[in-house]
Amino acid sequence: MYSRYKAFIFLTAFIFAVFGATVWFQNRSANIPETPGPEAQPAGVAADLAEVPPAQLVAAAPTSAAAEASATQPSEIPANWRDDLGVPILCYHQIVTDEQYRERPTPYAVTVKQFREQMQWLADKNFYAILPNDLLLYIRGEKKLDFANGKRPIMITFDDGNNDFVNHAQKILDQHNFKSVLYIYPTYIMARKERSLTWAQIQAVRKAGHAIESHTMWHPMLSTMTDAEQRAQFADSKRILNQKGGADVKHLAYPFGIYTFSSLRLLRELGYQTAGTTFHGANQVGEDPYLLRRFLIVKGDGEKQFAQKTLARSLPLRYLSGEPGQVIESQASVKFKIPGGLEQSKFKVRVFSTAQDFSYDKKTGELTVQVAPSKKRLSVLEILYKEGSVEYRANALFNHKRATIAEAGTAKAKPAKVKKKKRKKKRKAAEDE
Ligand SMILES: [Zn+2]
Repeated sequence: MYSRYKAFIFLTAFIFAVFGATVWFQNRSANIPETPGPEAQPAGVAADLAEVPPAQLVAAAPTSAAAEASATQPSEIPANWRDDLGVPILCYHQIVTDEQYRERPTPYAVTVKQFREQMQWLADKNFYAILPNDLLLYIRGEKKLDFANGKRPIMITFDDGNNDFVNHAQKILDQHNFKSVLYIYPTYIMARKERSLTWAQIQAVRKAGHAIESHTMWHPMLSTMTDAEQRAQFADSKRILNQKGGADVKHLAYPFGIYTFSSLRLLRELGYQTAGTTFHGANQVGEDPYLLRRFLIVKGDGEKQFAQKTLARSLPLRYLSGEPGQVIESQASVKFKIPGGLEQSKFKVRVFSTAQDFSYDKKTGELTVQVAPSKKRLSVLEILYKEGSVEYRANALFNHKRATIAEAGTAKAKPAKVKKKKRKKKRKAAEDE
């Protein structure tokens, strides 16, 4: 009885922590663009995967040091980047009835009615759903997707492993023949929560053509972990989802959209092919597969906001110095390559909402930004470029605090312990006030 009560308290606290931190992060990282993108549709014909020479696929596999570098620093920015509308990724969490929402309102729960309208909107606008394998080939420039006659590819994803998927979402997706991706963290399934999917449901969902992928083992903030701990999160979740969910995991969504530079390297080593953030924009040819842009869809999204997210435009960005997710402990100058020939006056560069000094070399497309250390856990850099009514965006994430759990010497710390400590700290802080 007591242990049940304890488990309930822990899981409730854990879920709240997850939501709180994600909402906090969302507020800072995934702002909505002022204007949806319109215009030029690149002509394209769907190419069969079989047409891609195996040698090309092998060459793209990150086995050598050079290939590893290219996976995070794809060198060239395509000259026609403006014509690449890219592939947006939508990120859902819960799809609930009006009654469920009234009982337990969270910003992440989208109502069934909203979801039905959003899927209808996508269908009306000629969107068709693709899965991560095709998206990967697209951003590698190895497969053309069909943009002809206003058609648009999109990826629809669900985080965590809530059973609303089978109770509500799946039927609606079926009506439009949309296949989707479920990023699941196994401890949620193993806890057999009232709202979590069962392994049998996960297997059935996969048989129905949806992809089952990883959301780590227990949804930690990866920036608080050592490399060994991160590796375990990626390896264990993959193994368990494959064994119990009948999956073939190759893709991952970062919990809270947070990652470190090690995350990218470890994912590659463990055979993961893509990973999703919570950054703005659609995924273009040349995008880093371990930094896929993905929009959180929230309760507050009306039709206008949904359209803005879905039609958002991207500014291509490559790292020339510094690394994605690197730890900034003292003032650092980070150099990016973005398209050349742009007007400096049309840029806005900011960390969260604070404008930053930057320099831009129109000839080379080099953009240099000073990133300051911060007491916050992380900084999200936004680069906005407005051209007429169209806004193009790029994001970069920097961490500031080193692995606090690792430093405390509890390399095998379980989430329960961490949360318990935090609760104790909170209680103590409250008492101190
Ligand atoms: Zn999540």
